[in-house]
Amino acid sequence: MSEAAEVIIVGAGIAGLAMAIALRQRGLNPVVLEQAPELREIGAGLLLAPNACAVLERLGALDFLKQGHSVEVPRWELRNWRGKLLSTLSIPRAGQDALSTRRSDLQKALLGCLPADCVQLASQVSSARLSAGGVSLSLADGRELRGKRVIVADGSHSQARASLWPESEPLYCGYVGWRGIVDHVPAGWERGRVSESWGQGRRFGIAPVGGGKTYWYATATVPEARSRERVGIAELRRDFAGWHAPIDEVLETTPNDKLLQHPISDRRPERDWQRDEKLVLIGDAAHPLTPNLGQGASMALEDAWELANLWGRTDAMLSYVKRRRWRVMRLWAMSRSLGKLIQWHNPLACGIRDLQMQMTPDGLSTAMMRSVLRYDPATAGLP
Ligand SMILES: Cc1cc2nc3c(=O)[nH]c(=O)nc-3n(C[C@H](O)[C@H](O)[C@H](O)COP(=O)(O)OP(=O)(O)OC[C@H]3O[C@@H](n4cnc5c(N)ncnc54)[C@H](O)[C@@H]3O)c2cc1C
Repeated sequence: MSEAAEVIIVGAGIAGLAMAIALRQRGLNPVVLEQAPELREIGAGLLLAPNACAVLERLGALDFLKQGHSVEVPRWELRNWRGKLLSTLSIPRAGQDALSTRRSDLQKALLGCLPADCVQLASQVSSARLSAGGVSLSLADGRELRGKRVIVADGSHSQARASLWPESEPLYCGYVGWRGIVDHVPAGWERGRVSESWGQGRRFGIAPVGGGKTYWYATATVPEARSRERVGIAELRRDFAGWHAPIDEVLETTPNDKLLQHPISDRRPERDWQRDEKLVLIGDAAHPLTPNLGQGASMALEDAWELANLWGRTDAMLSYVKRRRWRVMRLWAMSRSLGKLIQWHNPLACGIRDLQMQMTPDGLSTAMMRSVLRYDPATAGLP
């Protein structure tokens, strides 16, 4: 068996790449194992809140995004399904802007901060086992690798987590999400305008992402037994028929084979995301969130940044878990409740909900989001 590597990171997603950069900035040389044989363009769009951008700046990845690979988002609009404006959330000036981008551009921005040989592709980790000198990882191709310390960042269906925390799969939240990107910006849609519209048991969001492209997402309440049944563009167009412009135009111009579908799931953040200061979970592997607050990627970036800040300590992993748990728990709960509210389908209840949103002063919604979006990487994770 090969000599144990100092640090192995499992997964080259947002959390894993951010972690690798942050550790390299501190003089370490981690190895990243990624299951994909090549890093292709996958995923659709992402809204990067100011807290995500604050970490990306520290990692050196923000400039790439700001140079034509994103759009600045000064506010988010909430509308009803007919298009009536219910509320506007101004992004609190919290040190950084919010950006709308493509997941693939974020991945490029992060990869651009790493040497080419840092990520080992075609390396799917199927299980992890604690051993005397660290952690043994079994790979799907039969290899066994050892790391003195292992950071697990392989997303919400993490296989490494499942081997140490059995029965910890995410739970279905009652609705399915669809996402796509189209090669145009609808006529009359201003740059940086991000809008989400609520109906009865359904929602639709639109966000230009730069480079003349537009990201859209939709959700619908679906019983669990049918949540994996594939739905095509034609069916979505039927479901969203009569909704305000340009929803039908955006759907119509999305190629069916580019449509992404995910049952939405999350998991109550566990009390413990580490084992014996040898293995630790970050990002969705630790705490998958529903996408309602648009904070999943932000939490992954904050996790990586704080763990790296603590890395030299003998209790780094335990301290990281203690520091992160309450913030993540709060956002998990907020995101889950917001999702339930958005997915209401009783017409009367939805009418009251929309009226309530309309009557809530915009300044109050903005103030409520301030503590979520504010994050200071200069002090985060420091003793
Ligand atoms: C519908 C939807 C919309 C969303 N919108 C937003 C948004 O607007 N803003 C936002 O901040 N967040 C959003 N999120 C959440 C966000 O995408 C995730 O929180 C974020 O991607 C988590 O990053 P991660 O690195 O932990 O996991 P991932 O991005 O899932 O990365 C995991 C990586 O690990 C690799 N991997 C998996 N298994 C293995 C294995 N066994 N061995 C080796 N490698 C492996 C994968 O190939 C992947 O590269 C959304 C999520 C959904 C479902």
